[in-house]
This record gives sequence, structure tokens and C-alpha cells, in this order.
Amino acid sequence: MGATVAFQFDRLFIGGEWVAPLDGGLRASIDPATGRSWGQVAYGGVQDIDRAVAAARAAFEGPWGRLAGWERAAMLRRFADLYATQVEALAQVESQDNGRAIRESRADIGLHPQYFHWFASLADKLDGRTIPLDDAVHAFTSRVPVGVVGAITPWNVPLMAATWKLGPALAAGCTVVLKPAEQTPASSLALAHLVEAAGLPPGVVNMVPGDGASAGARLATHPDVAKISFTGSGATAKTLLKTGADTLKRFTFELGGKAPHVIFADADLEQALNAATGSAWALCGQSCALGARVLVERPIYDQVVEAFRRTAGRVRVGAPLDPATHMGPQAHQQQLDKTLGYIEIGRDEGATLVAGGRRIETAELAAGYFVEPTVFADVTPSMRIAQEEIFGPVVAILPFDGEDEAVAIANDTSYGLAAGLWTSDVGRAHRVAARIQAGMVWVNTYRYIRWSTPYGGMKASGWGRENGVEALDPYLDTRTTIISTTGRFADPFAA
Ligand code: NAP
Repeated sequence: MGATVAFQFDRLFIGGEWVAPLDGGLRASIDPATGRSWGQVAYGGVQDIDRAVAAARAAFEGPWGRLAGWERAAMLRRFADLYATQVEALAQVESQDNGRAIRESRADIGLHPQYFHWFASLADKLDGRTIPLDDAVHAFTSRVPVGVVGAITPWNVPLMAATWKLGPALAAGCTVVLKPAEQTPASSLALAHLVEAAGLPPGVVNMVPGDGASAGARLATHPDVAKISFTGSGATAKTLLKTGADTLKRFTFELGGKAPHVIFADADLEQALNAATGSAWALCGQSCALGARVLVERPIYDQVVEAFRRTAGRVRVGAPLDPATHMGPQAHQQQLDKTLGYIEIGRDEGATLVAGGRRIETAELAAGYFVEPTVFADVTPSMRIAQEEIFGPVVAILPFDGEDEAVAIANDTSYGLAAGLWTSDVGRAHRVAARIQAGMVWVNTYRYIRWSTPYGGMKASGWGRENGVEALDPYLDTRTTIISTTGRFADPFAA
């Protein structure tokens, strides 16, 4: 283990083999830092999804399904150990494909092996309950895998999304067909090479990049897919729900966010600003949990706005693979257009543009999808830039007076994924955290996310949880078994 694993991107990984697409093809994958192709990547179509699902079903009914939990755990640990040796290689692939600064990719991907180790440690602990009734029966429950899982992931964090789905799905005993986003399939194909090299049985993990409308839709409607684990937009989630209804699929949805980062005047301001500015521009603004709305108690409002303005000037925007780069480009042209569009909306709505606001067109970055770190102040809660997910490096700063208004503004969006709260008053920390409608609330820290901490949204931010022991539930069914201890069954027609 630890030897170099060679990655190739022009084949699909189905049934343990690298195969040419049947009804997809090869397509140029664009480097968002240059706007040019960096290589050819395989895309699958409906027929490719069909054969991937067939391979996953065969593995589920065959070798994988027959393994004991501790045997699955051992395989997952072997995979995790191999993954740990490939963090740098995976980070390079992901940063080139989606433009994320290499320092961020390394930090994120460096944690992934521990997700697999942690879920491996649960694979042989899927115990049930005994149900006391009377001496005539013995009743107990068992937890059994639901079957073939369709995993559909977005372009901003392809490997993280894949890790969050594969860990619990495989620990539960399911098999997986994973469709990464069409813009950023490369790192997921690299992951499939590790699946192969770690010796997971053929068909347990199948990797089929493809378009949502064809490959994704087929996965979501395939009768042999028991469950869809989806990370992406609310609009796609609604489509999936409708199209999956015919086959009564189970769904979990990790959707968008518009997280409030609430800073009270009694906070340790230096720490709060480190967290709030960092999370405003991490991943070039392209993450669901970023503090896109910064809510600031009025006595320190001007001070915070000024600090954001100054910090925007310290963000080094540049080539994703340069270790000095803080922030890379937007991941693709459509997201660039969307971000610039929202900056225009913010101006039109009357918010004050404090920093940034433009595409970067200096010589070496002009061809890429780079946007300046952007700050809007004097934002009001009803403005679109305070309500809608921009998914770019655009932060909206809103003032508030007191706890009630902070909570009212924080909850005044359709989303409920995450929130940050900064205060030195422990009572206030409890009071406010308990009133915020979000699946994850961080107090005096931000974006602390680990394998064991359940993560997911309330309201329009999703259904279900990833990470934590809760993440296993959607991949498992409960079977109740009732065994007679007497073997007698009364003749119903005797009397
Ligand atoms: P998206 O457009 O919904 O796409 C997500 C995935 O769904 C892609 O693989 C896409 O394929 C596929 N898809 C699209 N239409 C489909 C259909 N009809 N049937 C099946 N699959 C289909 O979302 P995105 O723009 O890639 O991702 C950004 C969104 O993800 C944001 O809203 C963000 O907040 C959310 N997100 C949430 C989390 C979280 O943990 N809560 C994490 C990351 C991102 P294509 O590639 O062909 O479009």
C-alpha cells in the first residue's frame, strides 16, 4: 500500500472494470482557472447507468451481501488506509477540476480517511433489539441494508460528498452507483481507482459521470435502485421526488443554505472575524454551509464592515494549484455568471458595495472564472442577496439590535442548514442556539464538521443527516422477526 495509483479519466468504472461509455462519450473537462480543457473525461448515459445498477445489484445479492459486518469493516479500513496515501494526488485532481485552492483541498481530503475508518467501526455494530412479549414468542429486530444506492453529488465538493455517502452506505452493506456532477467528475473517477486498488469486490462501487437529465434521471427512476442519496440544489431535489415516486424510492437530500453568522457585541471580535471572513470566501463562496449572511449587533456594525473591507484586500486570489492561493476561481462558467448576476442584483437593491464586485481581468487570470471577494453592507433581510443562495464569494452584512431581532433575521429565509453564533455570554449562547432553525449551530467556532457530527438541513435545506450514527439509518431497513417458542398454531375453525 502507498504505491502510486495511476488515475485515468476516459473510462467508466462499472462492475470492477474500466469500460468505455455505451451511450455517453468523451468530453473535455474544463480547468476553471484557464477556461481551457485539461483532458478528456468519460460520460455515461442511460445504458451505462443500467449496467452499473445491474453490477451493483449483482454485488449486493452476491459477494458483498454475504460478507459479515466485520469483513466489510476490514475492507473499508483497507480502503481508508489507501486513501490516506493518496490525499495529495486526489487534492491535485480535485483542485484542477473544480478550481478549489489546493490548501483547502488538502485540508478537506486529508480528513476523508477518518470518515471511512469511523464508518468501518460501525459496520459490525448494526445490532437490533429484542422485544419482550410473552413466553410463546421470541421477537427481535435486525437491521438490513436497503440495497442498491444511487449517489448523486454536486460540483463544489465532489470527494467530500462522495465520502459522506460511501462511508455509511458501504458500512450498512449497500452497494453504490455514484454519479458525480458533469462539471467535475475527475476526482470521483480517481476515487474509483482506489476502490479497485483496495480490492473491494466488483460492483460494490460503480462510478458513472454523466448529465443529470439523462444519467442522473435514470438512476433516480431505476426500479432496482432502493435509495437516492442526493447533494445538490432544491430544484433538482423536487424533480427527483416527482420522478422517483413511481418506484417509491427513499431519498435523503443535502441541499442549499444561506447560513447566518451572528456576531454579538460581547463576542471576542478578533476570533469572530477570523471565522466570518474565512467562511465568507472559503471554496470561493461555493459551499452550502458558508456564512453568507453576517448579522452584526449594531454597536460593532461599522467596525465589522470595515474589517471585512480590509480583509477582502488580503485574500490572495489566484491559480488553484499554487499553495499561496487563498481563493481560486468559480468552478464553471454558469456559476461565474450567476455570481456576477447577484452582484448586480445587490447593487440594484440598494445595498452598499464595500469591496470587490467585479470579475478579475488581470492578465494571468483573465481567461479563468475569477471574481473579487465581495462585501455588501446595509443589506436588509428582504433583499434577494440576503434570501437567495448565491454560491459565490459574496457576503451580505446586516445589522441587528438584540437577541430577538438576531433570531428573527437568522430564521427569515427558506433555508436551515447551518448557523454561527459569537458571544462571550454562555447563557445567550444556549438561548440563541436553541432558537435558530438550522441543522447545525456552531458557537464561537465555525464549520467544524467531522465524521461523527450529524450534518444536514432543516426547512428547504434538506431531509436526513449525513455523518454521525444517524447517517446509517437511511441505508438500513428494520426487519422484525417473531419466532414461536412452542410451534403451536391454533386451528381457527376448530370450535
Ligand atoms: P444540482 O444542479 O442540483 O446538481 C447536483 C447533482 O444533481 C449533479 O450531479 C447533477 O448533474 C444532478 N442532477 C441534475 N438534474 C438531475 C436530474 N433531473 N436527475 C438526477 N440528477 C440530476 O446542484 P449543483 O449546482 O451541482 O450543486 C450546488 C448545490 O448543492 C447548492 O445548492 C449547494 O448548496 C448544494 N450543496 C449542498 C451541500 C450540503 O451538504 N447540504 C453540499 C454541497 C452542495 P449535472 O452535473 O448534470 O448537473
